[in-house]
Amino acid sequence: MRPVEEAIELASARPEINILPEEYTRLLGYPRGWVLEGRARELADATRAWYAQNGRPWIYARQAEGFAFTGDSICLDGALFTSKQLQQTLAQAEAHSAILVAVGAGPEAEEEARRRWRDEKPDEYFFLEMFASAVVEHLTTMTGAQLCEWAEQRGMAVLPHYSPGYPDWDIAEQTRLLRLVTQTRNECFPSHVEVLESGMLRPKKTLLAVFGLTRHTERLRRLTSLVPCERCSLRPCQYRRAPYRRAPRSSTEQVQTHLPMLDRDAVYSVNRKALKRWADQRLSLTVRDDGSLDAVFLYDGTTCTNMGWPLIFHYCVKLGPREEGYPIREQHCTPAAEDTGHTRMCQYLEDPARLMAAIDREKPLMGERLDAVLSWRREPSGAGCFCEAASRDHKWGLVLETIHYALVQRELEQDG
Ligand code: SF4
Repeated sequence: MRPVEEAIELASARPEINILPEEYTRLLGYPRGWVLEGRARELADATRAWYAQNGRPWIYARQAEGFAFTGDSICLDGALFTSKQLQQTLAQAEAHSAILVAVGAGPEAEEEARRRWRDEKPDEYFFLEMFASAVVEHLTTMTGAQLCEWAEQRGMAVLPHYSPGYPDWDIAEQTRLLRLVTQTRNECFPSHVEVLESGMLRPKKTLLAVFGLTRHTERLRRLTSLVPCERCSLRPCQYRRAPYRRAPRSSTEQVQTHLPMLDRDAVYSVNRKALKRWADQRLSLTVRDDGSLDAVFLYDGTTCTNMGWPLIFHYCVKLGPREEGYPIREQHCTPAAEDTGHTRMCQYLEDPARLMAAIDREKPLMGERLDAVLSWRREPSGAGCFCEAASRDHKWGLVLETIHYALVQRELEQDG
């Protein structure tokens, strides 16, 4: 394939990290304008210091050499990707090329977070997890800014990035995108990344993205939805086309916070004390720019037989925004990287592929509002393992109820 004329390639194994306090505070779940104090401030400062000393962030970007619209798909360097949203953005802006980007907070942060969890330090774990998320957002912004500058100087503009796992783009395409982005041109790919069967990346604080590129900059003046500036916190930027919209809370949003979107008098299948403990110790919630939420629940139990081997599973749930009633948009359940207990479950010993496929496939209540968990009737099951459908449903029920409980508490707090 002939290299494109204006091709860009960026790689860095030590990009500068400067996380704005308000961005970190937002990811920690505090309301806008909140200033950390006391224990929270200590944890935030210690996390920053730890990451400055030990973190190994990295970025990589390269322009695709081939770009074409093919039916419902986009063809990048011969690989097909299907996302209506990405395709619409690229088509509306009359994009002529795309830049493949990968950024990561590094494996060290993930290993340290795992250690903190194992050492039963949930606060330290959570602050590091959220800092690593802030690093990924920051790296995406800073890489986007370098691309913007490069493009502007050549009479082009960069479009908002999009990633597998976002609405309308199957996370399974992460594998293909990783393969593509690691086919570097002159630079070395700065870190090791792999895609798990679930489509999640390892290390998980990694982002793969596609940024479109257009020469039709006049179109962007009319269609601000096609520029990434509204979600870009960079300041100052001489090329900015639209104000950063994250900071001020819109009047619509203010009104909506007073309309309960979840049943606040919910009757759960387990007692609230247990839900509170799990919400505090096992659940992490991240609110995205578009109001959607990522929830990660750490399940730890034991196998029912074989002397009770410990089991650690991750439940990852993506929820749509509050004003839509928190619809369940994605669900994944996978054994944690360090878990070996799942290989001791009876059904795994009988037929590992069948059991793991069932765990991966089952996504109860997918597409429904989170409130649906309150009327979901499940067979009672106290088994710690994942061998039977009833025990898997039971665990999904507990996970979704914990998320429901945590969001209700959050709304009550926000409403004062
Ligand atoms: S403000 Fe807009 S033009 Fe400037 S770096 Fe951010 S996205 Fe690019």
